Parts: sequence; C-alpha cells; structure tokens
Amino acid sequence: MTWKKQPFTTIKKRVFDALNSNMNYNEQTILGLPATYLDQEQFYFNAPFLKDAPFLSTLIYNPNHIGCHTLSQGESYFSGTHKIEIEVLKLVAEDIFKAKKNEYDGYVAPGGTEANIQAVWVYRNYFIKEKQANHNEIGFLFSKDSHYSTYKASNLLNVTAIPIEVDQYTREWDLDNLKQKLSEAKSSGIKYLIVQLNMATTMFGSVDVPIPILTEVKNRYKDYFVHIDAAFGGFIYPFTKPKCKLNFANPEISSITIDGHKMLQAPYGTGIFLCRKGLINYAQTEEASYVQGTDFTLCGSRSGANAVSMWMILMTHGYEGWKYNMEKLIDRTDRICNVLDDLKIRYFRNPFMNIVTINADDISENIALKYHLVADNFKTPKWWKIVVMVHVEKYIIDQFLLDLQKSR
Ligand SMILES: *Cc1c(COP(=O)(O)O)cnc(C)c1O
Repeated sequence: MTWKKQPFTTIKKRVFDALNSNMNYNEQTILGLPATYLDQEQFYFNAPFLKDAPFLSTLIYNPNHIGCHTLSQGESYFSGTHKIEIEVLKLVAEDIFKAKKNEYDGYVAPGGTEANIQAVWVYRNYFIKEKQANHNEIGFLFSKDSHYSTYKASNLLNVTAIPIEVDQYTREWDLDNLKQKLSEAKSSGIKYLIVQLNMATTMFGSVDVPIPILTEVKNRYKDYFVHIDAAFGGFIYPFTKPKCKLNFANPEISSITIDGHKMLQAPYGTGIFLCRKGLINYAQTEEASYVQGTDFTLCGSRSGANAVSMWMILMTHGYEGWKYNMEKLIDRTDRICNVLDDLKIRYFRNPFMNIVTINADDISENIALKYHLVADNFKTPKWWKIVVMVHVEKYIIDQFLLDLQKSR
C-alpha cells in the first residue's frame, strides 16, 4: 500500500510543483495550442487567495488532460499534472481494486455515465475487430436495477440491451429470468456478451454476486467481458467490506467505473474508468493525429483540475482515514435500520452500504417528502431511499426517526 495520509503543506507543494512543470501560457512561447489562459477579467492569476488554494489554482491554470496518460505516449504540455492523474489511477487501481502494477489503463472521465459507455465501447470494438462481429451479434447484459447509463450505452453503441429481472426482496439477479434471456439471446443470434455487474446500485445499494451469474453466462458463452459499475460504491464498499471480490484480482473482471463525485466528495467531473492493459487500445481514435499520442477516451479535452481534486482528497485522508470515514457512515446507517426494525418497517439494505430503501407502503409520503427521500419512480413510488452521506448528521437522523415513530 503506497497510499498514506499527507499534511496539507506537502499536498499544496506537490500541486504547485506540478503546475510549475506544466507549460504556462503566460510565460512560454506557445503558438500552436488552440487553448489559452482563462478570461482574465474573471479568472485572474494574482487573486491573493490562490496561493493557498491548489485546486482553484489548477482550475485557473486550466491544464488539458486530453488523452490517456497510463499509456506511454501523451501530450507533453501538461506533464506535471498528468503525473498527478497517473497517481490517482494507480492508487485506485492498485490499492483499492487490487490491480497488478502497471497492468491497467484508465482516465478521469466526466462521470460514471461516460466511464460505463467507454467500457461498452471498448468491448464492442474488440468483438468487431477480433471476431468480425456485427452489431446485432453483441449483447449487453445487466440487471434491471442498473443505472440508466446502460441504456444510453446500448442505444449509442448499437448493441442489444438485455436487462434481467431482480428479486423483489434481495435485489439479486433472477437466475430463471437470466437463463431464459440468455437462451433467447442465443437463438436470436447474439454471439458475444458484455456483462455489467453493480458494486452498489443507485436505488438500493445492492451489490451483484458474480459467481451464479457468470456460471450461467459461461454455460452458454465463451466470448464475454465483465465490467463493474462501482460509480456509487467504489469509494465505500471496498473499505467497508475489504474481502469483496469485485476487483482486478478476479481474472473475470476486465474494467471498473468509479465516481469521485459521489462518495469521495470530489467536484463533478471526476468519474474514473479503469481497464486491464491492452483493452483501451480498442477505443483508440487513430485519426486524432493532432493530439500527441492520439486519443483513447470518449470525451477529448478535460480539465486536469478534476484529477488534482481527487488526488488532494485521497492524500488528505490516507487509506486508514478514508476507511474510518466510511465506517462512520455505516454506523449511522445501522442506527436507522435498527429503528426501522423496531418499528417493523420493511426496507432493503446491503449491510456494507450506506443506502436504505424503504418500502413505500410502510412510510407516509409526507415524511418521505419532508426529508427529501428519493423515490424509485416519483409518479408511483414503490420505494423511498435514504442515502447516508456525510451531511446526513446524527441529529437529522434522530429527527427523522422521531417523526417516523410518531406516525406509527
Ligand atoms: C451515478 C451512477 C452512474 C452515473 O454516474 P454519473 O457520474 O452521474 O454520470 C452510473 N452508475 C451508478 C451505479 C451510479 O450510481
């Protein structure tokens, strides 16, 4: 584990050193880049607070992180902050998701949606290139509790979505439905599969159990890839359940999406895409010839400040500190569940997650709306969810639980 807490002065120095080793538009002779410093009426370099604000300074210096920096070549202009992105990816891939040293590629994507689409893009292109597949021979398998970005990916990339029913109580894949859908897929000409498993679904915080699902897949398919959508759970579940197997130590798993802008409390724009070495090459756009090293990502230009924000958060807490923060959220979630049990209110909760999803029959809509719980479907809610984030403090939880008790 290389991931240790660092004092703010060290963090600040590292970020400013990185900015100094980037090219600066106001000091160097840069004629060719179609970018410049930000508008100086609004975003002036000499604002006095900037010298103590490494993240805001990175925003103002506006380094472009276009491309994929875990591959050897890359744009040379902003190599200082590129190195910080490479460090973020290393820490997440190796220390959290158990990848072997240098055996992965990835980038900081605008969010989980793009990272999930990127995964499907990589595998679709692999099947087209290596297996001469047609679009209509590629299926994308996921549970109905998956994030809606799966449907965006299927739609954009022209692969067949195969959503699978889940059990109403356990939220696990319905294996009978899986068998039936796989048989139908086979007979309708689907020859290749992309399988997405969730490390915490958005609505329930449920985590897919790989073995029974992949056993059914393997019984029928030889050519498939497994992607993990850990957009929500990636910065909590591996900390609260260190024995979890949804990581690169598992040879079945080829790629992972992790959002910084959910559990990590980073600014929006901090999704992470990671995959095993050799795969991201299938998303290479060789025609991106004016970009040094060409491009392997969906988005193109992106701000280096996003990677810097994640690096600063990770370095502020260290592994142990982050684990402690996440365990605290689990304690608070337990507190809610204990009272729900006492009141015989039905709910779903994965014990290693900070999401509680309450059966809508068991809670009044007034209380749900008063506390801004989120419905599975606001028109006809069947479930209301609570997400115990850092701002959900004990006194708010107590207030909510008192209201619940009074209403029974
Ligand atoms: C939020 C979420 C996404 C999409 O992430 P964005 O960052 O909003 O694009 C994908 N999958 C899951 C499970 C999520 O919770």
